[in-house]
Amino acid sequence: MRQFQFSFKGKEALVRELRKINQWSRTKIYSHMLFQVFMEDPDRETAGLVMDEIKKELPEAMVFGCSTNGQVMNGELSKHKVGITCTVFEYPTTRVQIMQYELTTETEEAVTADLLRILSENDWVTAIELLVTIRGMSMTGFSDRLRDARSDIAIFGGGAFNADMNSDDACVFSSVGGYAERGVIFVLMGGEDLHVETTYITGWKPLGRELEITRVKDSVLYEIEKRPAYDTYFRYLNIENDEHFFENTLEFPFIFDHNGIQLLRAPTASMGNGALLMTSDMYEGDMARIAYGDPETILREVANGIRKLNRFAPEVIKLYSCGARRTFWGTEVSRETAPFQLLAPTSGFFTSGEFLRTKGHLNQHNVTLVVGALREGEAPEHSTMPSLEDAGMSFSGRVSMVNRLATFIQAATEELEAANRKLGTMAISDGMTRLYNRMEIQRRITEAVKEPTQSVSLIMMDVDDFKKVNDTYGHAEGDQVLIRLAEMLKRTIDKSAPGGVAGRWGGEEFMVLLQGIDQTRASELAEQMRVNFSEIEFGLCGHRTMSLGVAEFRPGETADAFAMRVDDRLYKAKKSGKNCVVCE
Ligand code: GH3
Ligand code: MG
Ligand code: MG
Repeated sequence: MRQFQFSFKGKEALVRELRKINQWSRTKIYSHMLFQVFMEDPDRETAGLVMDEIKKELPEAMVFGCSTNGQVMNGELSKHKVGITCTVFEYPTTRVQIMQYELTTETEEAVTADLLRILSENDWVTAIELLVTIRGMSMTGFSDRLRDARSDIAIFGGGAFNADMNSDDACVFSSVGGYAERGVIFVLMGGEDLHVETTYITGWKPLGRELEITRVKDSVLYEIEKRPAYDTYFRYLNIENDEHFFENTLEFPFIFDHNGIQLLRAPTASMGNGALLMTSDMYEGDMARIAYGDPETILREVANGIRKLNRFAPEVIKLYSCGARRTFWGTEVSRETAPFQLLAPTSGFFTSGEFLRTKGHLNQHNVTLVVGALREGEAPEHSTMPSLEDAGMSFSGRVSMVNRLATFIQAATEELEAANRKLGTMAISDGMTRLYNRMEIQRRITEAVKEPTQSVSLIMMDVDDFKKVNDTYGHAEGDQVLIRLAEMLKRTIDKSAPGGVAGRWGGEEFMVLLQGIDQTRASELAEQMRVNFSEIEFGLCGHRTMSLGVAEFRPGETADAFAMRVDDRLYKAKKSGKNCVVCE
């Protein structure tokens, strides 16, 4: 595989470049020639001119391209408005085919269905490079449907964009379908000697605690933890809703796990009503955290990605990087793209959404650098790692201040979360027996009888002649009796009535709440508990007994009346000689 890269500097210069390639190709054997055109404006004329000239000079060549937010040529952000690459596939086994469709909300289903059909008929396809005009459209349905593509097919690519980030105008074009304002291009690649590796790099790190996404419609994020989404940025980062909102929040996009991988979403605008317009769709119920990005941390991540990619020994590298990364880095954006050029000719563009298939799912990324690497033939046994320092990637060993602060916040958050969990448990449980406390078991009974869809039963019990234990053997022995009674209750419930809960009602009185269990079954369980307790041998006081009452909830009854009824039956059990179960 070979690649030529050059910028468009007028028709004559273009023709000269094409003739050079033509000249070169005459003495070579190759199977396909694939041009990719990157163009900062969705300019129909220039796209047409470039495609026409390529067709004239190299009629067999295929062409595809799109509008961009700037292009990367030879690893660096290009100064020119139009960049062109020509990839020459040299192996006779390699196959390349371009498909182009009109893409709108109305056509997306038919488009994906047709692609899936073609894939099922062409088992040579191993990778798909995709260019798409997103133009504010939700890409979730499109991406979800492509999940049905053969699982070994890699998919990567990006959303066409515009030099003006605030413009939705974009285009794709190809030698197959011409120029389109709304379209998708699939470049199918494959053959036994073509190898494709894909990966993605963010460099952004999660910060602070998880926040639940509670209301979202496509890419409009209304609420986080049931509060206006904008409040999160104001509350945690003091970011005002002014003209700097986009740049200020860019360093702190949301990060969340979706389809088993980490996605980032940055707000592009605050909508006044507290809602945020996000870079693309988010999903209700996902747990998101604010992430932060700083140059040092990002570059370390890029360096790791490059080391990994080096093992693949790429011959051509394609970058699909988020327009937001370009804004983040400003004039220094090439710092994170140039190092790829050490491995292979690197080209790409700044997108309005990066697409990558991972674990079967096609995901739409934001603020991410998606990498597609191509190679024909086997990788050499040992590929040496070029020095990243030569590409200006030197790390002082010093960790940035923001990185340290983020670590500090993370550790403090984890400590607080652990303390909160502990407090939460303490508030509802009894310290000695570790059962629920009276308040919690009462709350659960009230909850259970509110709109019962199944039978609800209670078992209440009280140790017989417990005062004697305390008086004869001391309070500590009494405590042991209560602790082991509680353990027995938990064991019996786990084994015979999973889902049941036990609480300490008072001193040596306990209550068991059973849902989906009627009076008959509850009485059997109570009898089992009575026997189990009587079989325990205590250190000093030997065997003890207890009395139990059982009741099933009667519709219309209050929770208090229900508890009173079971208490009455316990009282009856005491009256009738203790060490027994009363259920009427
Ligand atoms: P009955 O068979 O009628 O239930 O007789 P009893 O002796 O068990 O009756 P009573 O309910 O009057 O006695 C309860 C005793 O339980 C009184 C109290 O000192 C003791 N007690 C309450 N809470 C605890 C505790 O946490 N530990 C210990 N060791 N004793 C407790
Ligand atoms: Mg008692
Ligand atoms: Mg008592």
